[in-house]
Amino acid sequence: MSLAHGRHYLAIPGPSVMPDRVLQAMHRPAPNIYFGELADMTESIVTDLKTVAQTKHNVAIYICNGHGTWEASLANTVAPGERILVLATGRFGFGWAETAARMGIIVETIDFGKRSTLDPDRVRDALNADTEKQIKAILVTQVDTATSIRNDIAAVRAVVDDADHPALLMADCVASMGCDRFEMDAWGVDVAITASQKGLMTPPGLGFVFFNDKAEAVQKSLKVTSNYWDWQPRAYPEELYQYFHGTSPTHHIFGLRAALDILVHEEGMEAAWARHATLARAIWAACEAWGSTGSLELNVPNPALRSHAVTALRIGSPDGTRLRDWLSENAGVTLGIGLGMAAPGDDAWHGFFRIAHMGHVNAHMVLGVLGTIEAGFTALDIPHGKGALEAAAAICARNP
Ligand SMILES: *Cc1c(COP(=O)(O)O)cnc(C)c1O
Repeated sequence: MSLAHGRHYLAIPGPSVMPDRVLQAMHRPAPNIYFGELADMTESIVTDLKTVAQTKHNVAIYICNGHGTWEASLANTVAPGERILVLATGRFGFGWAETAARMGIIVETIDFGKRSTLDPDRVRDALNADTEKQIKAILVTQVDTATSIRNDIAAVRAVVDDADHPALLMADCVASMGCDRFEMDAWGVDVAITASQKGLMTPPGLGFVFFNDKAEAVQKSLKVTSNYWDWQPRAYPEELYQYFHGTSPTHHIFGLRAALDILVHEEGMEAAWARHATLARAIWAACEAWGSTGSLELNVPNPALRSHAVTALRIGSPDGTRLRDWLSENAGVTLGIGLGMAAPGDDAWHGFFRIAHMGHVNAHMVLGVLGTIEAGFTALDIPHGKGALEAAAAICARNP
């Protein structure tokens, strides 16, 4: 007998849980792609996406995943042979760097490790060393989903301004947008990227590249931009097909419209960020209590540097895998695997897991996941401290 029957909770950092309203909105025959509802809806989505990113500037929408936005953002800003600086705090930072390298861009990567944020002094040194101002863009991941480190993007802007460096500041917000506070214009971000399947609660398949006037001017100065990635017609379409450089992602648009209704119009960004912050603190409180005995440990020691959308944990091999397997077989919960922490063939790989708490997630879901982890620890005889669930409940109870 298994206790897993019932609604499954996919608690992995993307794809995230989709609201029933998003699913229902997509369940329809193909719509007219020339005019009418779909066209109006696409315009309204552009407006709401800008609210999510807190920008007055532009957004280009692509039929792609987050990896596609890595390429799209670079294709419009950096030519082959030009230089960029990547600030890596986990696997995803390196992923964006690899994309750039494959595009013929010269990449300098600063690796800040897996457990802490970037060091502004090292960024300053790298920019000061670039006396001829050849670095065209600085790439930073707001939340690295592998390590769950959250970087202070405004602090990077301050360093760039201090160094009086003209490089574009580009932020990967795939894991964080809609979950962690992000203010593109106020923080001086020139290009921001995200995708549909995390904080935006929609199936994977849509990628978004936000860009300001400074980035737009850089794009116009490039000798060539690939026809497909060119953000100009997508941001300034004269016909509907130009939004997507071809057939619209029809059903995704209906789904995203429903998701943005929920996020932007019903809850609002401030409340959504606050909800994610409180639920994250409930998870950390439980993990700290468990970790008081035994080997469970939050990957990011400093709470101020932790993502509000995903929490990476260390527990020692093979208990990470044992726990994940137990939860999916017995409790109807799928936890995230450790990513980029150890090589997949290595024994140590089994010593990590992640809890996603991004998007359509509320107190009962988070407390449910924590309760089933507690059951898993007990069932598997994994040593753990007491009082985790009480600590998490207390955080939820204190929420105004
Ligand atoms: C998920 C993610 C990506 C990649 O997105 P895919 O849709 O899997 O291609 C990139 N960056 C970050 C920070 C992510 O969390």
